Parts: sequence; structure tokens; C-alpha cells
Amino acid sequence: AKSAGRNAHQFFDPAMQAAVESRTRLEGELRRAILRGEFLFHYQPQVDAEGRMLGVEALARWRHPERGLVAPGEFIGLAEETGLIVAIGQHLLRRACEQLKEWAGVPATRHLTLSLNVSARQFHHADFVDMVLANLNAAGVAPDRLVLEITESLLLDNIDETVARMEVLKASGIRFSIDDFGTGYSSLAYLKRLPLDELKIDRSFVKDIETDENDAAICAAFVSLGHILGLRVVAEGVETEEQRYFLARVHGCDMMQGYLFGAPVPAEGIAASVRAAD
Ligand code: C2E
Ligand code: CA
Ligand code: CA
Ligand code: CA
Repeated sequence: AKSAGRNAHQFFDPAMQAAVESRTRLEGELRRAILRGEFLFHYQPQVDAEGRMLGVEALARWRHPERGLVAPGEFIGLAEETGLIVAIGQHLLRRACEQLKEWAGVPATRHLTLSLNVSARQFHHADFVDMVLANLNAAGVAPDRLVLEITESLLLDNIDETVARMEVLKASGIRFSIDDFGTGYSSLAYLKRLPLDELKIDRSFVKDIETDENDAAICAAFVSLGHILGLRVVAEGVETEEQRYFLARVHGCDMMQGYLFGAPVPAEGIAASVRAAD
């Protein structure tokens, strides 16, 4: 037992050591990327039941000097844990407003809204409200072009404070969407207190809608729930014509987003597809 105790104390796991080192390296690279402004967006179309593109979701990408374009799944988590998401988010917010300004100057794209993902850590930062309003103002963009996508994780913090912040932003015309709906652990009692405009059904419920009766029932219920609460309902990850038909035609889902309508692309791709539809 004595030697086991000493072994436990000297325990060394190369795999764990490697994981710690790669995390530390990634954090350093993220800090450098913030200084160099290596973050950008790809944009994914959001279409209505008739297939018209009414807006886009902005999805972050990291242009890594050696690795090329890195998806958010590989860096947003660590950015949230380390708090670096605040600086990254500020950079992305400016990009989003500049993009809206560019689209506002062209008749074919001026109607587009931009949906921006906001982490809980970012939202609860003291400067968040001022940052959003200042960036819109600096770009001369109408606040009603911007939709902020928040998640249920926001509700783990002070609900009164969350509602108060949302109200300030809403008063200027900004809209709010509850993202990844149904995947978190919020209660409807909390959710109904939030001044939301939109509910996004997570892709995990849409994926097997054609084969899984439970998923089909859940999607139908979410559309109804959203409508009862006066929200616009958007389904995420729509990949097939059958999913589109079921969601939009059978259940009256207002908007859809997914590979069926277009993968996330650089801004030029959005402008080109709007021109093609004219
Ligand atoms: P999300 O907000 O749920 O975004 C939807 C994700 O599904 C995106 O992945 C999108 O590319 C992908 N997707 C869209 N349509 C389809 C489809 O038809 N099939 C499949 N299989 N996937 C589809 P992406 O771009 O890798 O983003 C992953 C997550 O990273 C996002 O999930 C969001 O939570 C987070 N994220 C992205 N951009 C930002 C950002 O600017 N700030 C913050 N805080 N988080 C971000
Ligand atoms: Ca989202
Ligand atoms: Ca999702
Ligand atoms: Ca999300």
C-alpha cells in the first residue's frame, strides 16, 4: 500500500501531459490570433418556406497561418474557458457590423439580417451592451438587421440581469433568438421570461425526423410552442427535401437553414447567390 501511494504520487501519464501541452499551445496561438485579427465569418443562408433568403447566420472561422481555416468546434470551447472569447467576440462583432454595412449599400442584399452567436461569457461581460450599440453606430447599420443568438446556458446566471440587458438591446431594435433549443437544461418557466423573437430548433432533432417518430413529434411540438409564445421558428441542419417538406409544409416552420439551401460560405458567395436569384 505504501509503494502504491508513492506510485500514485509519481504517476505520470504521457497522454494527459500531451493534452495539457496542446491546450497550452492552442491558448497561445489564440492570443496571437487575436492580435493579428485572424478571425472571420462564413455565412449560411436562412430561407423562408418559399425558399427566399431573408438572412444569414454568421459562423466564425479562424484563418490559422499553418493549419488553414479552423472550425469553431476546435477553438470556441477553449476561448470560452479562458475568457479569450470576449476579445474574439469583439473582433467578430466589428466584422459583422462592417458586413451589414456593405450589404446595406447594395439593393439586392439590403434586406438581409445577420444572426450572430453570442457566448454566455460574452453576454455577461460588463461592456457587452455598449459594445454592440457602439459597433452598430460606428458602421451606421440599422439595429433591426442584427439578430443575437443566445443559448440556454445564459440562464444559469442572474435572470433579472439577463432580461434587463436584453431589454436595452431590444429597445434599439436588435432581435434575440434562442439557439440549440431543447438541448440545454433551462425550464420553460425561465424561458418564457426572456424577451425573445425567435426559436431555433437544434439540428439533433431535425437529423432523423424522417425515421424517428419521437424526433418528428418533438419538432412539431417545438414549432407549436414557438408560435404560441409568438416567436418565429427556425429549423437548423435541414439537409433533405423531405425534412423541408415536413417542417415547412406540414408543421408551418417559418424559416430553415441547412445544406439543402447552402453551406456556410464567404460573403462573396452570399452576394452571388442573391444576384443569381434576381
Ligand atoms: P450552431 O450555432 O448550432 O451553428 C450551426 C452549425 O451547424 C454550424 O457549424 C454549421 O456550419 C452547421 N450546419 C449548418 N447546416 C448544416 C447541415 O445541414 N448539416 C450539418 N451537418 N451541419 C450544418 P460550425 O460553423 O462548425 O459552428 C459550430 C458551433 O460553433 C455553432 O453551432 C456555434 O455554437 C459556435 N459558433 C460559431 N460561430 C460562433 C461565433 O461567432 N461566436 C460564438 N460564441 N460561437 C460560435
Ligand atoms: Ca447558432
Ligand atoms: Ca445547433
Ligand atoms: Ca450554438
